Amino acid sequence: MRETGMRRRDLLRGLTGLAVLAAGPAAAARVLAQGGGAAAAPAPPPRGTQLVLLGTQGGPNVNVRRSQASNAVVVDGRPYLVDCGYGAVRSLVAAGIGYGQLGTAFITHLHDDHTVDLAALLSLQWTGNRSQPTDVYGPYGTAAMIDAAIAFMKGNTDIRITDEGRTVRPEQLFHGHDVAAEAAPVQVFKDDRLTVTAAENTHFPDRAKAAMKYRSVAYRLQSETRSIVISGDTAYSKNLVALARGADFFVCEIIDQPQYETNLAAAQQARAQGRENSIAQHVVETHSNNADVGRMAAEAGVKTVVLTHLLPGSNRNTTAEYPDSSYIEGVRKVFAGQVIVGRDLMVL
Ligand SMILES: [Zn+2]
Ligand SMILES: [Zn+2]
Repeated sequence: MRETGMRRRDLLRGLTGLAVLAAGPAAAARVLAQGGGAAAAPAPPPRGTQLVLLGTQGGPNVNVRRSQASNAVVVDGRPYLVDCGYGAVRSLVAAGIGYGQLGTAFITHLHDDHTVDLAALLSLQWTGNRSQPTDVYGPYGTAAMIDAAIAFMKGNTDIRITDEGRTVRPEQLFHGHDVAAEAAPVQVFKDDRLTVTAAENTHFPDRAKAAMKYRSVAYRLQSETRSIVISGDTAYSKNLVALARGADFFVCEIIDQPQYETNLAAAQQARAQGRENSIAQHVVETHSNNADVGRMAAEAGVKTVVLTHLLPGSNRNTTAEYPDSSYIEGVRKVFAGQVIVGRDLMVL
């Protein structure tokens, strides 16, 4: 079962679009048999809810095997984005979703490994003649970030309006919305296919929150057929356990034990030298090790855990991938349900 997503991904690689993807393996096989889709009968309307992992690497490094944090949830063919780290736009294209039709995005927090492709996404949407609004929801600072993305593309906008006769300005299309970060789940979005609630997680320590307005949240995306909870970055969080209660998929970040212990030692050394705040301290204090993930999954009674934002993930840049078994064994000590180690472009 753990490899189901990988097999589907391999099957779907090279197919022409999400309509086929959403229609399931039978439709995909039919298209393959017809030579890749060019001569295929029109695909049936895509139905159901899919989770597509676009980026599974944890942290702000860049490697070529895994993109930074990003997920798509596709409901009856309509995509919704959660986080937009570096590589998200490329992964949207690789997954057959594309970026032109994406109208709704949710950001868990404003660390750049969750946001840095947003400016690219919006700018490329505008240049690609998107005519419908794109709304981006996230905690404090999100609205200002979208205004800044519009400022980033000003040269491109001015040149093309002057030179190409375009009339729509990005300010008319792109809107950022700051959402509440509360202990109890708050509904932040609802349309005819999806309801999204958010709750504050524990990615920012109290001493940092006392000095800034920025907050970090997890999301629950509920369609008619599926509930998908995306942790964002977080340490163990009671709020997240409540948000994830009984969910079909608990998409959770993880830092594997050896990496956690390395950072723990470095943090202790920094504290001994009088430095309370360090990168190592941030890592051990505000992320989830194997036991944290298992405990939250067990307490919430979720059906399936999907591990993402992997640390170390592919950061070591060796030819051998970090073994899935290491993450899984740690989580399984506490959680008896299904555990899937995420890969970019996995479809679940
Ligand atoms: Zn992160
Ligand atoms: Zn973060």
